[in-house]
Amino acid sequence: AGELPHLTDADPTAKAMNYIEDATASKNALYRVGSLCANCQFYRGPDAGYGICQLFPGKAVNAKGWCSSYTLQKA
Ligand code: SF4
Repeated sequence: AGELPHLTDADPTAKAMNYIEDATASKNALYRVGSLCANCQFYRGPDAGYGICQLFPGKAVNAKGWCSSYTLQKA
């Protein structure tokens, strides 16, 4: 399987959802410290590096990223 292109902060769909590759740099009011793509329920891994997010088909998101659709994974 080929590697998916990485979602960048500049991507229009990323901007629309306030996606940022480095979650800790987010200035969004919804951002909470400790929230990461890696612990979001829409993240489909792999856990390190870049992985698949259900909300951004065709792109790989940064495991350390964040967007305003972030939802904490259920245990
Ligand atoms: Fe990351 Fe979750 Fe937003 Fe997808 S929905 S980009 S996994 S924070």
